[in-house]
Amino acid sequence: MAVVYRDEHADLGLLLNRRISVIGYGNMGRSMALNLRDSAFPVLIGNQADTYSFQAYQDGFEVTSIADAVVRSDVVLLLLPDEVTAQVYLHDIAAGLTPGDTLVFAAGYNVAFGFIEPPPFVDVVLVAPQAVGEGVRDGYVEGTGYPCAVAVAQDASGQAWARVLAVAKALGALHRGAIELTFQQEAELDLFMQQALLPALHSVLHTALEVLSREGFPAEAVFSSLYMSGELGYIVSKWSEMGVLPSLQLHSRTGQYGILSRLERFKEVKLTRQMDSVLDAIRSGDFAQEWAAEYADNYPRLDNLLRRLQSTTVWQEEQEVLAQLHQDQR
Ligand code: NDP
Repeated sequence: MAVVYRDEHADLGLLLNRRISVIGYGNMGRSMALNLRDSAFPVLIGNQADTYSFQAYQDGFEVTSIADAVVRSDVVLLLLPDEVTAQVYLHDIAAGLTPGDTLVFAAGYNVAFGFIEPPPFVDVVLVAPQAVGEGVRDGYVEGTGYPCAVAVAQDASGQAWARVLAVAKALGALHRGAIELTFQQEAELDLFMQQALLPALHSVLHTALEVLSREGFPAEAVFSSLYMSGELGYIVSKWSEMGVLPSLQLHSRTGQYGILSRLERFKEVKLTRQMDSVLDAIRSGDFAQEWAAEYADNYPRLDNLLRRLQSTTVWQEEQEVLAQLHQDQR
């Protein structure tokens, strides 16, 4: 079983007198900065002067350049988009690190795939929420916490574990318990979820929409019955609360029989092979290289793929149905 850390395992006292900076004031940066401040730790924001830094000013933070924030802090939270971080690290961060500093990542990606190799004199740690930025803030404010993983890649101070747990506690990340992983495991799991589970679900949804619309069901009813009603979201939320099988009892007996008796038909060997090959490409670093090249070229393939899908009938119909539903609600 994995080790799980909770609030009682961490000592916030370790953060006293340590200057903290948050680099990047985007989705995760803003939430983490607000959480740290509400835990009574002052935070300096490092960001280029633009709309994100304006938001940070408005939220009442001191904002400075990334390089200056790093020089003026002992604990540096690196909260930039993953594909961007290595370049910014080289230009604005590496030179400002000093012995005893703690470099905190929110994703294992850059260290796991070798894009960033921090100097041997800093602690390199991970507090990786399994939640979007908004969820990290909401979980803190509501006191429910949020799922999270923690890791240490480099323990220069001999205190890296105690320090990462202190940072995680101040962020509200230990409230529900944080799972100990390695940077590599966190990065691989995160990418697998994005590249295997979600595309497979998209593909299943797309096929179901095509089958039902081919059979002449009204579009509104098709979208509603498959996911727009929110029933699917509710079922998935019950999976996480109760477990997949226990939550079957929430369905009618007809529903339970339907699910269980048809399950085997959808077990595809091809799916296993695809997932294996996706995982292989993640582990070998091939995906990370592909994504670095895509970033270097300014995302041509990402834009293209999205545009192609947006022009397909099913997703255009979806937007029409949504617009119709919103109009009816007014
Ligand atoms: P965002 O895309 O929201 O980050 C935007 C921030 O990055 C802004 O402050 C932006 O400032 C800055 N930025 C973007 N490009 C550059 C650049 N070239 N140079 C300098 N600054 C730049 O990222 P997220 O908050 O989504 O992700 C941050 C980290 O959190 C990542 O490691 C991610 O994996 C992790 N994470 C994110 C989750 C999420 O759901 N969002 C969930 C779990 C982890 P500006 O444009 O002014 O430069």
